[in-house]
Amino acid sequence: MIPEMITDALVARLCERVSASTGDSFGTVNVFTGGTLAKVPRSSPRDVAEAVEAAREAQRLWANVAVEDRIPIFERFHGLLLGHTEELLDILQAETGKSRKDAFLEVSAPLVTVGYYARKAPKLLAPQRRQGMMPGLVKTTELRVPKGVVGIITPWNYPFALAFTDLIPALIAGNAVVLKPDTQTALCTLFGVDLLYQAGLPQGLLRVVIGDGPVVGTAIVDTADYVGFTGSTRTGREIAARAGQRLIGCSLELGGKNPLLVLADANVPQAVAGAVQTCFSNSGQLCMSPERLFVHTAVYDDFVQRFLAEVTGMNLAAAYDYSADMGSLTSQRQLEAVTRHVEDARAKGATVLTGGKARPELGPFFYEPTVLTDVTPEMLCYDNETFGPVVSIHRVADDTEAINRANATSYGLNASVFSKSTSHAELVAAQLKAGTVNINDGHVVGFGSADAPMGGMKDSGLGRRNGTEGLLKYTEAQNVSRQLVPLTTPPRWLPFGWYVKGMRSLLRLVRRTGIR
Ligand code: NDP
Repeated sequence: MIPEMITDALVARLCERVSASTGDSFGTVNVFTGGTLAKVPRSSPRDVAEAVEAAREAQRLWANVAVEDRIPIFERFHGLLLGHTEELLDILQAETGKSRKDAFLEVSAPLVTVGYYARKAPKLLAPQRRQGMMPGLVKTTELRVPKGVVGIITPWNYPFALAFTDLIPALIAGNAVVLKPDTQTALCTLFGVDLLYQAGLPQGLLRVVIGDGPVVGTAIVDTADYVGFTGSTRTGREIAARAGQRLIGCSLELGGKNPLLVLADANVPQAVAGAVQTCFSNSGQLCMSPERLFVHTAVYDDFVQRFLAEVTGMNLAAAYDYSADMGSLTSQRQLEAVTRHVEDARAKGATVLTGGKARPELGPFFYEPTVLTDVTPEMLCYDNETFGPVVSIHRVADDTEAINRANATSYGLNASVFSKSTSHAELVAAQLKAGTVNINDGHVVGFGSADAPMGGMKDSGLGRRNGTEGLLKYTEAQNVSRQLVPLTTPPRWLPFGWYVKGMRSLLRLVRRTGIR
């Protein structure tokens, strides 16, 4: 089944937004059935170069539009998105196989982004008066200049949220954007791009290219003025190295092997509800989902019993309504990766408490939510990201063991701590090496708090999205300083020794009066 609204006419209209001259196309998969969903055009490196050049032209005009006049476009986009949510959810589900509940949460994220930056951007991007070199004699202003053309490269798991939470601040900051969505999930991204143009975005300011990452993605990194990337740590390293060669900036939102800690004083039913929600969101194909659960021995048996009851009761279905708790994995590749991790763990002695098998009768890529114990370091799933509905539970004796084991990974994206005591949870949170720590929640409160930066420590990334940093990273800081009297070039008639004396007195005065 394909949702009725995904017609050939709609696909053709959306694909007109793609900069592609090859005449070639990719077929994308209807995840719930394995059949063909749509054909999307293939771009070449030359298309990328032309898209970047044309975007550069459009950006020159856009940079002269006052921030206050850019914002209404995004506010109209917000309204259009709310008006077209159901169609977008259909496309998202068909392209990713996620449940409608997960799809709805995904669409909510850019709505929060628009609301936040519409309020904050005018002030954050306004010229800021800074202390000049000498009070009263030098006037210094910090300006925020757009980078120019920002390249944004996104993966397939949260294709709509990850593209729009990044490109909205990039555009508000005065840039043009060249966007490369993952091919499989291009349609939902194009649907959003179409809404942005309907909202009044100047033509040509946001361009879309589609193609293999090593070809089209690389061409973006080689031509854009800044790159915002979300994807695997392996690709992130390649992009950072390439951007480094050109001395352009990049932000990298990468993988994770996230821990969830249930402390001795946790409210166990609350911890169970939070763990189920976060571990199996989008079938675990979420960078922030925990895959390692560290549970204090005092509550271990209670937690495991309740957790298993919830997990085994989850409803898996290919349903375009809100009846399913969990949908499908997105591709054959993900199904194989998840199967490999679980079979490896089983072969090396892990215990499968529930799940552990594919469910082809529901759809070609469905896999059961799976809970493992006795997972040891030689198993693939111990510290490699599975990116599927597979978690391992570990019994810990105390907080120190939980913290040490949580931190014993090369990743540092997200962590969750469950405790009834705020001070206890905060004490533990402060010792976790992760870019976001959620207390009494899995990941939603951290990601959804748009006023605070979100991103990874260690191998989980570089830079942040959301918050002040999520906007200012798309700008160059420019310091414009003006001397009000000839301070640095004394008049010719003044002996230089006198000038030195005068400057020394001035510096002393400034220090003594505490102005500096
Ligand atoms: P990849 O790194 O394989 O791909 C991500 C995007 O990069 C795709 O559009 C891909 O294109 C493109 N790409 C691939 N190779 C290159 C290259 N050499 N140069 C430029 N672009 C390239 O990641 P996955 O598809 O496997 O995505 C899942 C990963 O993303 C997981 O590790 C997950 O943890 C991480 N992720 C991180 C998030 C965060 O916010 N920290 C959020 C979501 C996911 P194509 O595939 O079309 O060839």
